[in-house]
Amino acid sequence: MSALRQDIAELVAQDGPITLETYMTLALSHPSKGYYMTRDPFGAGGDFITAPEISQMFGELIGLWAQEAWRAAQSPSPLRLVELGPGRGTLMGDALRVARIAPEFLSALDVHLVETSPLLEARQRQTLVNAPASVSWSADVARVPDGPAIIIANEFFDALPVRHFVQTERGWSERLVGLDDSGALAFGVGEGVEPDLTVAAQEGSIIEIGAIGARIMGDIAARLVAQGGALLVIDYGYTQTALGETLQAVSRHAYVDPLEAPGEADLTTHVDFAALARAAAAAGAKVQGPVTQGAFLRQLGVVERAEALKKRATTEQRAEIDIALARLIGAGDPKRDMGELFKVIAVTHPDMPLLPGFFQ
Ligand code: SAH
Repeated sequence: MSALRQDIAELVAQDGPITLETYMTLALSHPSKGYYMTRDPFGAGGDFITAPEISQMFGELIGLWAQEAWRAAQSPSPLRLVELGPGRGTLMGDALRVARIAPEFLSALDVHLVETSPLLEARQRQTLVNAPASVSWSADVARVPDGPAIIIANEFFDALPVRHFVQTERGWSERLVGLDDSGALAFGVGEGVEPDLTVAAQEGSIIEIGAIGARIMGDIAARLVAQGGALLVIDYGYTQTALGETLQAVSRHAYVDPLEAPGEADLTTHVDFAALARAAAAAGAKVQGPVTQGAFLRQLGVVERAEALKKRATTEQRAEIDIALARLIGAGDPKRDMGELFKVIAVTHPDMPLLPGFFQ
């Protein structure tokens, strides 16, 4: 049994069942035993692989996108270039490398990484040790200094805890994590009902609500409206709010039971882009997209970038570039390819014109 599973079982035995949101918060961010606090999960030898780890092309193109968004915002200086949940810092490293071709952009930059895990922060410091701009860290986006900002969030919102509600004969009740007769963690349903949830659905249906993500989105959107800039969100998810739940646990590139080993498997959900867009619009921001990651990267020139890299590559490297490109923009293998599963939106100040990647 994982050490954290033991802790959670004791907590539940003492105080009663906890919400899924609390369970996910403990599993992912418990200060000493949470998933992101104890490991670097990325890459072939880890639990999963993300776009910046697949190819340098991804971070480079996001870096070029940030330059265009900065110009579209009238080239403010200083510009806060912010990344939420930067993993190994690979995306930002690649983005800052291409910033060297735009000296005015580079000299405006003040880089902020928002990261809760001290272990991953240390990894990011290593990656960015020779960064051509000042870089600082905080655990909360609210602590990023004021001013115009370009904010990048790749596979960040999927990592935030969610709540589940189950349709019962009394109405929608919150899904809880408790103990079964054998003392194992098990899903159950609370006694209360959620009066604000009025969606009609069959008994047993589940609704997933990313309340933490919506709150973070609302706060960032309000900041962008007041101070200027844009937020780019890239994640796996869906574009219409729908019934059903998408909680998944992944360990060593395979799906596992989400209650089996808290702290040792990654827990994520598919992002409800419509809910994020509603939270942004409610704060007065404009939303561009959603578009698929495949369409977004193609419009930014990923195919041409791959061709340029291949000109200077060995035969073996050329094959690797083709494989990376297929994973980033393809959809042939829905389990592996990101082109259709991943969606992209930009949330901006109302005066921002349409940005690259979102043209029709
Ligand atoms: N963007 C990276 C990593 C994605 S994994 C990539 O594409 O490779 C999710 C990242 O978000 C990790 O760095 C994790 O530690 C961080 N994270 C999770 N919850 C967070 C929170 N509430 N605030 C800040 N960072 C968080």
